[in-house]
Amino acid sequence: MLFGLVRKALLQTSRTSKLKFAARMLSVFPIPALQDNYMYLIVDSETREAAIVDPVEPATVLKSVAEHDVKLTTVLTTHHHWDHAGGNEDLVKQQQGLTVYGGDDRIGALSKKVGHGDALKIGSLSVKCLFTPCHTTGHICYYVTDAEGNKAVFTGDTLFVAGCGRFFEGTPDQMYKALVEILGSLPDDTKVYVGHEYTEKNLKYAKHAEPDNPEIDSKIAWAKKTRAENKYTVPSTIADEKLFNPFVRVATSETLQARAGSKDPVQVMAFLRKEKDSF
Ligand SMILES: [Zn+2]
Repeated sequence: MLFGLVRKALLQTSRTSKLKFAARMLSVFPIPALQDNYMYLIVDSETREAAIVDPVEPATVLKSVAEHDVKLTTVLTTHHHWDHAGGNEDLVKQQQGLTVYGGDDRIGALSKKVGHGDALKIGSLSVKCLFTPCHTTGHICYYVTDAEGNKAVFTGDTLFVAGCGRFFEGTPDQMYKALVEILGSLPDDTKVYVGHEYTEKNLKYAKHAEPDNPEIDSKIAWAKKTRAENKYTVPSTIADEKLFNPFVRVATSETLQARAGSKDPVQVMAFLRKEKDSF
């Protein structure tokens, strides 16, 4: 009788832990590269299939793939700049059968050019391509979801934690569309994985631009502690960016609009980017 009860309890425990594993089908592992870049290994824990975002250091990527014991099938390239796409050619030489996605013909080893709304799969994970030109004319963000409701977006050099990329090949209007209309309409609990560890620098400017926003103060304290412990400041979330990222807040913050002298969010975007470029 007692043995039976213990056995039943053990069975229940193993069933619970199995469920817990199944509930995390989407796993993301940040891999730091170069000075302050992030590559990301995206794993579907159901099929062990994996994708890599912006694999600028192929050797580091393949080491991580071996450590996690996953099958790498996919490269997701956010844009053509060398610190994001510069490892593609080498990686496809070292690993057969990879499909390289991106939105720009300047991307090395590109095998599938994608545009806004295009969909693809990594095992059981769904990926939707979001066209966000401005930093470069062919910039793509990748929105990844699983059947359990986990959501992540890989934003390259479009959206940073508390900041955004420079407008090298685009306009304030395009960045407004990218940050507010496209990324801003993703679900609030979407995790945000950005292309660079620029968080502390960005928050310094955020504080300068919007000194009366207490959310910026708490994020500064958190980021300071996180970096002092050598941890990453990713992921952020879409909800959090709306609280402290000045470039995401151009349509909602009266302080920012007053500083820019305009209620037009595109004008505010232009003002902030210009100011930040020389901050
Ligand atoms: Zn870039």
